[in-house]
Amino acid sequence: MKTLITNGTIVNADATTTGDVLVDGESIALIGTDLGASVSADTTIDAGGKWVIPGAIDVHTHMELPFGGTFAKDTFESGTRAAAFGGTTTIIDFAVQPRGQSLRDGLDAWHAKADGNATIDYGFHMIISDVRDDVLAEMDTLVDEGVTTFKLFTAYPGVFFSDDGAIFRAMQQTARNGGLIMMHAENGLAIDVVAGQTFDEGHTDPYYHGVSRSPVLEGEATNRVIRLAQTAGAAVYIVHLSAREALDEVRQAREEGLPAYAETCPQYLFLTLDDMKNGFEGAKFICSPPLRPADHAPELWKGLVHDDLQVVSTDHCPFDFHGQKEMGRGDFRKVPNGLPGVENRVDLMHDGGVVGGHLTPNRWVEIISTAPARLFGLPRKGAVAVGVDADLVVYDPNRRHTISAQTHHMDVDYSCYEGREVTGGSDVVLSRGKVIVDGDEWLGAKGDGRFLKRERSEYLR
Ligand SMILES: [Zn+2]
Repeated sequence: MKTLITNGTIVNADATTTGDVLVDGESIALIGTDLGASVSADTTIDAGGKWVIPGAIDVHTHMELPFGGTFAKDTFESGTRAAAFGGTTTIIDFAVQPRGQSLRDGLDAWHAKADGNATIDYGFHMIISDVRDDVLAEMDTLVDEGVTTFKLFTAYPGVFFSDDGAIFRAMQQTARNGGLIMMHAENGLAIDVVAGQTFDEGHTDPYYHGVSRSPVLEGEATNRVIRLAQTAGAAVYIVHLSAREALDEVRQAREEGLPAYAETCPQYLFLTLDDMKNGFEGAKFICSPPLRPADHAPELWKGLVHDDLQVVSTDHCPFDFHGQKEMGRGDFRKVPNGLPGVENRVDLMHDGGVVGGHLTPNRWVEIISTAPARLFGLPRKGAVAVGVDADLVVYDPNRRHTISAQTHHMDVDYSCYEGREVTGGSDVVLSRGKVIVDGDEWLGAKGDGRFLKRERSEYLR
């Protein structure tokens, strides 16, 4: 099966060119001009006036995550289909080690959720809930199995929280085995004190989730984990960085030459703490770290421009407003934490980043696809290049559309961006050579997504 994509503007992280892309089977066979004259293809896709970009990679999703007595609503089937409609052709989801059990137990459970269900390729990070000697030894095995990244938390005491000693030991282990530690950096112990006091004062609305989690406590935890990593001789990647205080710490570390990396998420660029007002409606916007006051986002954009932030991921973790978020009516601490977003990232970043004048088209591709591929050990992804997987998006940079829960494909009953008009949309999406999205039409199939055995991060070599 050969597919020829003609007349597109090929946008890679490092260059923009004009030409045709020949897909043969699952990979890109040839890139050149006027290929139609010399090769015969089974299908031709006219990309005139459009961009051809590498399929986007979302390195932070939580399909079917158990949280606060319920589960994130998207399955690997519904969540990856929604991702594909939004131009994302690879996700890396977080397998969770259940406390007291092995990493293997958690990883097996995630394989069972994804295998036969995912519609696009996927990898796993491993959440370590419980650092023990046997768990440290298991980390080496997982790195060799292609699960090369591990997430720990300074937040959520009693659930995912690890103390500094545990974090330090895990960092020492990755310094030896070539893995990478990802950190949720907020001071959860102090935050829980503030949240408890806030609730006891009679403040129960979702807005107080936001004000209880000070950006200073994100900056403090970010600095702490960076310094732990420095001492352990390890690299560190800060997930969902939301606050200026945290960015300052990452920038400082990078200026010192330390291998510190970080991602932010669209919600921290496009939404603010004020979205959490409006009574219980604010529950739609409860995530951790929380949305920040409006003066933080401009700093995050600068961080993306200067490469102090290398990646934008979604932290996609959808809970219905009705029935799930509502579990926290009367107590903001009981609202499940997480927002839907896997479908919206590419377009939001195009609209706010490229149309908004912060990013070149190349930098946009780098942030949503190429840097995630390199940082997370996916050499066959993240570029329009001969020999790599034909994960491709024909992207219309001029199409205007409106984000809405009425039309999105995520299995969740609201959108954080309801009514927002954006410029730019994915027209045709290919996953390893197969067209899975054509306009509004779904042509993908459950089970077509493959587990990606990832290599060690290229940034660490
Ligand atoms: Zn997350």
